[in-house]
Amino acid sequence: MKVLFPEIENKTLHLIGEEADKLGLECYVIGGWVRDLFLHRGSKDIDVVVVGSGISLAEQVAARLGKHAHLSVFKTYGTAQVKNRDLELEFVGARRESYRHESRNPIVEDGTLEEDQNRRDFTINALAICLNKDRYGELLDPFGGIQDMNEGVIRTPLDPDITFSDDPLRMMRAIRFASQLGFYLDRETFDAIERNRERIHIITKERIVDELNKIMGSRKPSVGLYLLDKTGLLSLIFPELSALKGIETKEGRGHKDVFVHTLQVVDNVAEKSDNLWLRWAALLHDIGKPRSKAWDPKMGWTFRNHNYIGAKMIPGIFKRMKMPQNEKMDYIRKMVDLHMRPINLIEDIVTDSAVRRLLFEAGNDIDDLMILCNADITSRNEEKVERFHKNFELVKQKMVELEERDRIRNFQPPVDGIEIMELLHLEPCALVGELKSKIKDAILDGVIPNEHDAAKEYLLFIYRGNA
Ligand code: ATP
Ligand code: MG
Repeated sequence: MKVLFPEIENKTLHLIGEEADKLGLECYVIGGWVRDLFLHRGSKDIDVVVVGSGISLAEQVAARLGKHAHLSVFKTYGTAQVKNRDLELEFVGARRESYRHESRNPIVEDGTLEEDQNRRDFTINALAICLNKDRYGELLDPFGGIQDMNEGVIRTPLDPDITFSDDPLRMMRAIRFASQLGFYLDRETFDAIERNRERIHIITKERIVDELNKIMGSRKPSVGLYLLDKTGLLSLIFPELSALKGIETKEGRGHKDVFVHTLQVVDNVAEKSDNLWLRWAALLHDIGKPRSKAWDPKMGWTFRNHNYIGAKMIPGIFKRMKMPQNEKMDYIRKMVDLHMRPINLIEDIVTDSAVRRLLFEAGNDIDDLMILCNADITSRNEEKVERFHKNFELVKQKMVELEERDRIRNFQPPVDGIEIMELLHLEPCALVGELKSKIKDAILDGVIPNEHDAAKEYLLFIYRGNA
């Protein structure tokens, strides 16, 4: 008996092995869980491969685990799942796969453990550990997955051209693992992705976005984003991002490479926040720049209104990528639209009314906006960066002071439409809206405080034709 790690001394895994022995079946824990065991990343999903019926073993295991275990059987796929507290056990029979050109869904037949390991995407995902009692803890690593983990390399077990052509989603997975684990792509694996990149077209948008989200969730998303670009996948799945690449020079004047800048901003945000949607906002913050780029003989390169143009592009991008058109999208659109505002504040004299307006428009997302805006400062001129950061702190301080006094973030009009109608004996009409918005402006401009009585008095004052 060869026990590899104390972690493999796992009660549930022993129990699975015992039940498999009773049924006379060989069984192994395989794939992601084994990889994460070696990389010391906690993982709650355990995949078990059975040489024979995975379903019968799952039924036995669920019965042994008792009333907390929940069994689901998927007869058509020959798989079963047992949920036990926070563990998710997936049981499947060992299988062999063959592919047709037009689909990533294989023809599946029963197979041996070796055949099952052959169908795995990467060497680090093909490791199996036996759970049967007399071989408990025995590692089967036919492709040198342990060595690849030590070296930090993503490599396919078989010919990478076949692996990627069979199931092109694996190209995204390769890059996602490189980004999540901080690994690099083996040269041949990299070259095969480049050669097979057009095959990505048979993958659904939802799956592509799933992998993109995992790249965006990694510690340093730029690792995956650069790899997407270098392999040529990016221009196929996300042309608007590819369009940010490059520098144009005219009369000796260039501009920043917006792609390089964007990736730096994404990494900067990722250091400060795990919020996936804020990271997406960073990825898209300058997406409108190529469309707004213009040459001005006096000013050089300009990107006027790129925030506004970018915000307008977002619903189209979300639609094409089949991403949900929901409040997350609205949030990103707002972030892109407002991302220049705090910095413009810094460059101008910081007036109370400008800060109030920003607080009003950003609402509760103001802290996120400030993270994005701070991350956006990527100039190589250290003095400039330092000055920006300093002024930034001043703006933040001012925000806190004004917010304390005027409570703008969650702005609720101190006099609402109904009260306006009652006070002035009006029926619902456009004038009510106009009066409401004048009160709001007066508060944001500091003409009156954000209080009921002051707002009421101001209302009567302007209604009598004084403003
Ligand atoms: P994570 O759960 O963190 O996304 P994972 O490697 O566990 O990573 P799963 O999708 O849970 O990914 O898949 C479990 C295992 O199934 C993988 O480790 C791999 O062995 C195999 N696998 C998953 N998807 C593929 C694929 N497209 N091609 C080949 N093998 C795959
Ligand atoms: Mg998994």
